[in-house]
Amino acid sequence: MMSYSSHSQHQTAPPQRWAIVGGGMLGMTLAHRLAQEGQHVTLFEGANELGGLASAWQFGDTLWDRHYHVTLLSDLRLRSLLQELNLEQEMVWRKTKTGVYADGELYSVSNAVEFLQFPALGWLDKFRLAFTIWYGSKIKNGDKLEQISVVDWLCRWSGKRTFEKFWLPLLRSKLGSNYRKASASFIWATIARLYAARSAGLKEEMFGYLPGGYHRLLSHFAQRLQQEGVEIALGHRARQIYSTNSGRVCIELANARQETFDQVVVTTATPVASQICGELSDAEHRCLNGIEYQGIVCASLLLKKPLSSYYVTNITDDGYPFTGVIEMTTLVDRAVFADRQGNPRSLVYLPKYVPSNDSALQLADGQVRQAFLDGLSRMYPAFHASDVLDFQLSRVKYVMAVPTLNYSRNIPTFETSVQGLHLVNSAQIVNATLNVNDTLKLAEQAMPQLLARSRKRRTPVLAV
Ligand SMILES: Cc1cc2nc3c(=O)[nH]c(=O)nc-3n(C[C@H](O)[C@H](O)[C@H](O)COP(=O)(O)OP(=O)(O)OC[C@H]3O[C@@H](n4cnc5c(N)ncnc54)[C@H](O)[C@@H]3O)c2cc1C
Repeated sequence: MMSYSSHSQHQTAPPQRWAIVGGGMLGMTLAHRLAQEGQHVTLFEGANELGGLASAWQFGDTLWDRHYHVTLLSDLRLRSLLQELNLEQEMVWRKTKTGVYADGELYSVSNAVEFLQFPALGWLDKFRLAFTIWYGSKIKNGDKLEQISVVDWLCRWSGKRTFEKFWLPLLRSKLGSNYRKASASFIWATIARLYAARSAGLKEEMFGYLPGGYHRLLSHFAQRLQQEGVEIALGHRARQIYSTNSGRVCIELANARQETFDQVVVTTATPVASQICGELSDAEHRCLNGIEYQGIVCASLLLKKPLSSYYVTNITDDGYPFTGVIEMTTLVDRAVFADRQGNPRSLVYLPKYVPSNDSALQLADGQVRQAFLDGLSRMYPAFHASDVLDFQLSRVKYVMAVPTLNYSRNIPTFETSVQGLHLVNSAQIVNATLNVNDTLKLAEQAMPQLLARSRKRRTPVLAV
């Protein structure tokens, strides 16, 4: 068990009542670690299930992730959590292939030889691209890269053509049109994740999944939390959080119920945190609302036939309604999604990353479906709309913070001006991409500070 407190502190500090707002992987991990430290924890989740972005929905007869999720062999923190939950030994690891759709053709760029054959780039372009990746992998500290835009940095080292044919599709596949606002630290973090296997002492990177998907991880995690005494309150949306006269923190729920705690940790996106933590200072509200978010419209399709052999296909050509194609069943066996007659099925995700205020988040289902299926037909001549057995759409306004210029200077701290109220959220992940492994790292970083602050003597705001 991970311990954040020295033995003597642990003995002298009586347990406190903690509330965690947000039952995604971050909130669940904080609840787990606090319970392991002997604290009394209640986890409030607004939805009727745990998991947030990692939660599942139904595909035919199978429950699987609402958004595509893959675990890397180098995701050591996540694998260690899976070990704690006694699930790590079940992980299935595979090598996957990567495709690029350029000039109306689909190419494999899954290894160095294929990459050298990729016709959309000349030899000099390829050399500059390889140099950029090598150079990026040698940079140890990404702080300076926060000061330069990702477009300028990539054009400087890779050249304009390589930028347009290679980097731009990759940036669009993660940031949509927000790539124009991102700093070079975004691509540095992406390259670092590419090299993470090597840094972790592994021979090669592999992609993995847990049979049963995140749903299985989440249900084991929820059981563990309950065994540790965590009270899980689903369908309990926090409406307002404020301090009480006795120096404690009260949560008012959407059903008007109120509960008071010694410590409250809010893990939601920063604009939501600003909305529900009305007592924060003006400067804190400005900081929380100043962070720009990336939203997503993400379609999940269950298909009769596979589209390709690539896990990810980045799209170079303009005019496609989605920013990439993720064919999950190049990693997960198609048999997992078989129908009752045993016919295997393919699971494909079509993400469209957009700014959080983009009108695409408001488009009607039918409109998105039509545009996405037309896009697929243009990319894959063998695809027919009649191959689609199931089409579901997820829309999320706040997926991840856009790593804008000088991002790390403008993020909220864990502590707030309201005694006993703490903010821990994915916007505090700097120089990294959004992934569960880095989310767990954030929870580990926050724990010592949360515990230390909670031990400071509580001073009542007003004597009663
Ligand atoms: C399309 C997509 C693909 C991804 N692919 C991968 C991948 O391949 N590998 C990987 O490792 N990661 C991936 N991720 C990232 C991963 O899902 C996130 O890093 C992780 O789930 C973030 O967890 P979180 O708890 O910080 O946030 P969330 O999951 O957003 O959790 C926040 C929770 O707070 C709840 N909430 C909000 N407001 C309130 C309120 N007022 N009261 C109570 N509860 C509230 C929400 O309902 C939600 O459950 C992907 C994400 C997306 C969207």
